[in-house]
This record gives sequence, structure tokens and C-alpha cells, in this order.
Amino acid sequence: MTTMTNTAEKFEFQAEVNQVLDLVIHSLYSNKEIFLRELISNASDACDKLRFEAIKNPELLGDELAIQVEFDAEAKTITITDNGIGMTRDEVISNIGTIANSGTKKYLQSIAKKDRDEANLIGQFGVGFYASFIVAEQVELRTRKAGEKEAVSWKSDGKNDFTLEPIDKAGHGTEIILHLREEEAEFADNYRLRSLIKKYSEHVAFPIKMLEVTYPEKDDEGNEIPAKTPEYEVVNDATALWKKAPADVSEDDYQAFYKQISNDFNEAAFWSHNHIEGTQSYSNLLYVPSKSPFNMFQNPEDREGLKLFIKRVFIMDAAKELLPNYLRFVKGVVDSNDLPLNVSRELLQDNPLLQKIKSGLVKRVLGMLKKKSLDNDVYGNFWQEFGDTLKEGVVEDFGNRDAVLKLLRFASTQNEDATENVSLDDYISRMQDPQDKIYYITGESYSAVKNSPHLELFKKKGVEVLLMHSRIDEWMMGHVQEYDGKKFQSVAKGKLDLGQDEESEKEPSEADKSFLEKVQKHLKDHVSEVTASTRLVDSASCLVMDEHAMAIHMQKLMEQAGQAMPGQLPALELNLDHPLVQHIEHIDNEDQFKQWSELLFEQALLAEGGQLKNPADHVSKMNRLMLDILK
Ligand code: ADP
Ligand code: MG
Repeated sequence: MTTMTNTAEKFEFQAEVNQVLDLVIHSLYSNKEIFLRELISNASDACDKLRFEAIKNPELLGDELAIQVEFDAEAKTITITDNGIGMTRDEVISNIGTIANSGTKKYLQSIAKKDRDEANLIGQFGVGFYASFIVAEQVELRTRKAGEKEAVSWKSDGKNDFTLEPIDKAGHGTEIILHLREEEAEFADNYRLRSLIKKYSEHVAFPIKMLEVTYPEKDDEGNEIPAKTPEYEVVNDATALWKKAPADVSEDDYQAFYKQISNDFNEAAFWSHNHIEGTQSYSNLLYVPSKSPFNMFQNPEDREGLKLFIKRVFIMDAAKELLPNYLRFVKGVVDSNDLPLNVSRELLQDNPLLQKIKSGLVKRVLGMLKKKSLDNDVYGNFWQEFGDTLKEGVVEDFGNRDAVLKLLRFASTQNEDATENVSLDDYISRMQDPQDKIYYITGESYSAVKNSPHLELFKKKGVEVLLMHSRIDEWMMGHVQEYDGKKFQSVAKGKLDLGQDEESEKEPSEADKSFLEKVQKHLKDHVSEVTASTRLVDSASCLVMDEHAMAIHMQKLMEQAGQAMPGQLPALELNLDHPLVQHIEHIDNEDQFKQWSELLFEQALLAEGGQLKNPADHVSKMNRLMLDILK
């Protein structure tokens, strides 16, 4: 419906627009500062569009494409000007007067079913032009389409209607004048506006300019010299670094940008920068820090550092939405060309476009790590800082399990020291017939696993064993069965099948059997069975857990953490060739035999990193037995 007043025409908003306006003003109140981001984003879009048009019509392009932000504290106005594409009168009516084409429409749809409280949350993510009315009681939009002569002014107080009026306007582009509400006058401030531009629009690829601040100076005689005429200066970085071709970005630029987005004092260790085109297009710049942050293991849910941009507009920190927990050390930027600008966090979580981006990013990160894994120094540092975090991926990311396993590094009996540099592929390449399993041991510390009696036979036979001594290892290994067709086998669990010497494979004699039973009788509260060991060479005894049971050091940790453990008893293996065991076999004194049996069990438990229920009893028992011998 239109009415004429002189040259100004009055239009009523569509009912939908009224609804949105109402919602915007009330529900976005706590995020009101986003109005500037929305208007700058529109100005930047308009510059993008003109740049695109100018490919066909170069004469459309005038001065450098730029955005200006000005303010008048007394008049309480803010003006955002661009020399982009501009709009014709009809375009103003359809773009601003209806919500058919605007991001606001999708916003409205997205909250149609939700209540105001949720709308408040969604408010962080942008609602387009109408955000102006959060802070302005009156908005004027003056625009001239590039290549056209007529210009038009659109005015509204955001209630029911707007007016259109032909105007004279010098250049093409759009000027938006916000008449601030009394209580929002604080926005008409140099510092406030600059910091909002820095915060939200730093990486808009067009220069955002503000007038420099000038102060009157005094000459030698103390007379005031009038301040010089202020000039425009660029407030933002004005380049979207991640949008550039990687070949055009220097190492220093990458490092400087890393520090800006990560708040990390250290340099990035390495990064991967890609422009993806295909069913959807997005850019990503993914950094791996050189140092693990002190809070790496706190609240993986709250992690930060991966920023989602949509068409160069910062949307939100979306580390959690963009990468799985086990890659939470990655920092950087993802910029989608396809996601809607007004997407909310809730909508992100089940957005199929985003799911695609997410799996693409995981592949990128794993690919980058694989490439870096060829460089021992770089990867060694990465492994030290983030290896344990990466291991979570073995459990968390079933789809990429093999890719993650390939990236893991372990200490090994092959090495002299605790260096973790053996990959599963290295291990497999060293396997000799008839070995068909990947042997490993988990334990509390490097020295505990390295000196474990379970390794004796492996050492003797020269079979490599991976030495796992990180807290996460036992949990991780509980979730994997095999790699590259080779089964994992803990050397401390289950039956060993190593192709042992014939002698050790022979059945124990009847005498041995009754000896083992006698030991078992005395230890029935501690062990499930007592058997002749096939894995010990130098030690007298060791404990062996069932294939699927939790390792003893883990049980201890769980107990310490207050988790009652189901009482699964280990088996005790005795080395029948060991002189001590042979000595015990011939003890007749029942009480002494019992004490020696307990000692064999307690030794095995200690060697495992287990804890004695009664250490003092162990000591007095040892002393008694030693005195017996000295007698
Ligand atoms: P969106 O940016 O998501 O489309 P907005 O509500 O921010 O939604 O803007 C609505 C439409 O108004 C834009 O799509 C654009 O066509 C037009 N528009 C807004 N601001 C400008 C501007 N500064 N220059 C040219 N067109 C603009
Ligand atoms: Mg917009």
C-alpha cells in the first residue's frame, strides 16, 4: 500500500517484517553491538558484488572499494558508507522492505518454533540489516546503483512503515545513517567503534576507514594551533589472509596471523592452508601450535581457537563444531561460502554442509600430520606436546582409526632409551616369521615397562615389544584389536604363543603339577591359578591378566580414583627353571612354604607396579625368611 506526501512515498512493511523487527529489537538486545558487524558485512558484500560486475563492465569501478564509518557524538549518529554496487529504488523495496531475499528470512524460520529465550542465543549470529534498529530509533539508507543516475533515500523508525524519496547522491554505493536511541548514544564514540571493527570486522577484505583523531597543539608561545584537518585511516587489516593463495603469503604473515587468532605467545609449529572447491567451497587455514597449552586437558568442550567465518564475516568460535575433541589442539580459520550467515550454534550442529566441512577438516589435519611425520625433529616435538591427545582419536574417531594409528609413536625394546619414535609401520616392517602379532606392554612408567619380567622371553628371542607407559595407553589399547591385519597382543595378558623352545612347551611333570597346586592352595585369595611360565627367563614369577582384563597398574589407578574394581584375580606364573623356585619346591615346612609362596606372589605384584595390601607384613616376612637362611 502506498500513499504520497510530496515526493516521499510511504510503504507499509510486510507483516513478516514487523514480526522480525519486533523480535530483533527485543531478543538481540544483549548482543546489540552486532549491528555494526551486520552493516559492514552488507557493505563488504556490496563491494564484492561491484567488483564482480566490474569484470564485465570495468567502467563501473571508480575509486578504491572501501567502507567508511563516521560518527557525530552530539547528533548521536553513526554513518556507514560504502562505494559498492548500491541499489535501485525497486531493489531497495524488495531487499529492505520485504524479507524475501534477506538472511533475516532464514533467521525468522530458524526461530519460528523456538521461544524468545532461544532467540536470544541465536542473536549472536547475525540478522542482517534490521539489526540497525537495535540501537537506532531512526535509520536512513541513501543509495545509488552503480551505472545509474537516480538515487533514493529509504527512511524508517522500524515500526510499521518506511518512506522512499528520490535524492541527489554524488557517487554510487550506499550510506546508512543511524540515529541512535538516547540510551545507545555511547556507540557514537571513536574508541568504541574502532574496537568493534577490530573485534568483528578485522578480516573484512576491504579497508574500513575512520577519520584519524587530531588534537589542537600549542606553538612555542603557548598559542593554540588549530588541529589539522583529519584524514581517513584504515582501521582493519583489510585482507583476509586465509583467502589469499598460499604462494602469496609469507611465513612471517602466517606466524603473525597465528598469534592474532590464537592468543598464543609461541610460534605455530606448522600449518595447512587450503582452498576447497567442489560441492561446496570453503577455505581453511589450520595451525598446530608448538607448545601444548596448560589447559589442554581441561574441558575439551570449552575449547577455542578455530574460528568460523562465512564469506569473510566472523561468525563464532566453532572449534567444537568443526573438529572432534582429539584434534582440539588445532587453531585457525574456516571460511565457508555456502553456510548461511545467520546460522546458529544449534543449527550448526546438525547442518549437513558443516558435517561435510568437518570431515574434510579432519582429513586435512591428519594429512598434514602424516606429511610432518616424515620430519623427525618437527614430528618429535609435536608428538611430545600432543601425542596423548591424538591417541584419543583411536577411540573417538572410528572412521579414521587406521589413519590415527599410523600417526602414533611408541617407545620400544628396540630403542636404548625412552624415545617414542617407533611407528606401527616400523614395527611391522621389522617383524620376522613366524611372528604375526604386534606385542606391547603397558605400565606406569617407562622404567616399569622396560624392566618388566614379561619381556624376558621376548628379549631372549629378539622379538620387539612396544613399551607403552602413558596413562591413556591401557584405555586406548582396550579399544583396538588390530592394525594392518596384525592383532595387538599384550605381553602381560593371556596365553603367549611365540613359538617357544620345545623344552618349555613340554607338559610339566607330575611333581611340578602338585607343587603348582600346593602354591595355588596358599594363594587362593590372591590369584586365579598358578601355572608354569612360558615367558620368564630370569625372574622367578610374574602375574598374567586375562586377555580382556584391565592391566594391574590401571586397576590401581582406578582404585585410587575411588572406582571400586571388580575383583578379577590375575594368574601367577612361576619359572620352574629358576633356582629360587626349585628351592621352594623342596621345602617341607608348611609354614615356610606358605611364606615363600606369598613372597613369589608379592614380588610379581611389585614388579607389575601393583600395590601390596600390607607392605609391613611383606617386609617382616622377608626378614624372617632371610634369617632362616642365615641360621
Ligand atoms: P543479507 O545480507 O543476509 O542478504 P541483510 O538483511 O543484511 O541480509 O540485507 C538484505 C539485502 O539488502 C542484501 O541482500 C542486499 O541486497 C541489500 N543491501 C543491504 N545493505 C546493502 C548495501 N550496503 N549495499 C547494497 N545492498 C545492500
Ligand atoms: Mg547482511
